[in-house]
Amino acid sequence: MVIYADNAATTQLDIDAFEAMKPFLLENFANPSGSYSYSKKARQAIKAARNTIAECINAEPEQIYFTSGGTESDNWAIKGFAFSDYNYRTIITSQIEHHAILNSCYAIEKLRYPVAYLPVDDKGIVTSDTLNRYISDQTGLVSIMTANNEIGTIEPIKELAQIAHLHGTLFHTDAVQAIGHIPIDVKELGIDMLSASAHKFNGPKGIGFLYCKEGILQPFHNGGSQEFGMRSGTENVPAIVGMAVALKNNIEEMEQNRRHVRRLAEVFLSIIEASNVPYILNGHQQNRLPGNINLSIKGKTGEGLMHLLDLKGICISTGSACDSHNQQVSHVIQAIGVPEDFCEGTIRITFSKNNTEQEARTIAGTIIKALKL
Ligand code: PLP
Repeated sequence: MVIYADNAATTQLDIDAFEAMKPFLLENFANPSGSYSYSKKARQAIKAARNTIAECINAEPEQIYFTSGGTESDNWAIKGFAFSDYNYRTIITSQIEHHAILNSCYAIEKLRYPVAYLPVDDKGIVTSDTLNRYISDQTGLVSIMTANNEIGTIEPIKELAQIAHLHGTLFHTDAVQAIGHIPIDVKELGIDMLSASAHKFNGPKGIGFLYCKEGILQPFHNGGSQEFGMRSGTENVPAIVGMAVALKNNIEEMEQNRRHVRRLAEVFLSIIEASNVPYILNGHQQNRLPGNINLSIKGKTGEGLMHLLDLKGICISTGSACDSHNQQVSHVIQAIGVPEDFCEGTIRITFSKNNTEQEARTIAGTIIKALKL
């Protein structure tokens, strides 16, 4: 029996999403661009999914472009903006972004586009003061993630977007970890572009979307003119359909899920606290993703703990799963300044609606035992 507590890495497919996908894998496999009536059903399913997703974030359907996931959406937002900005204005991002943003920025820097990487405070917050210090009339785009994938800190997106707009600058957010878990209303928050990935909210892998207001970006893939001519390539109909169902379900159940995972986090932390284990809970103590726990523990490496838990069938992460081959202290843990004698012992536990209180207790107990080995 596996206890899966790495839901920031990926989540289990929603059963309704799975059922909704099945007909488009077997019975109706038509290419949605076909001219015959057999294709119409696939075309209609894409349209319905686009409407559902737009509704979930309070956007217009024409502003939703389906992509292969968070990485592609982030690449498109950063590179698509840069390549259409003939004035080579600066892109501002933060030091704690996911590598889909950071590596896109490093790539455009090689082509001489200027990029500034904002520092964060010790909770991982990009403050308004910091953005105000760096932003100028020479800034073209600000890209700050909605919530951090390692430490769970939720950024003050609305304030940051307001500052960007005061300087005539566009605002993009990587909402991959946030969407489906905390409320997101693009109009209310003043977001111009947003990246999302279905497998982080119980949708299928390899599908996501970019929300983008009109007239900002160049097409990313050129070809047969799918996605309003902006992202050509035959659409992944079953995945698009599954993503829309998963997002709608997660948003409908959001409050209930939030209460559940928060309770599990409390149970877990109360056991760790009572054990006198020397630890630091990284990230903002209140403004954080409800199921995220990121701990730095003195006396063991995160890697060692992860393997000891793995032997007991428990899946947790040492930092960012996308970075799991990298043994170094993560860029996020470095940016928030976790003390040296704690930082190597960093682990991330991320609960979902499928976890139980008993699992939270088992994980905490297993960590405490592992620390005594
Ligand atoms: N952005 C963030 C914040 C993430 O956590 C991830 C994945 O972990 C990505 C982007 C990449 O998303 P995908 O796996 O869909 O490419």
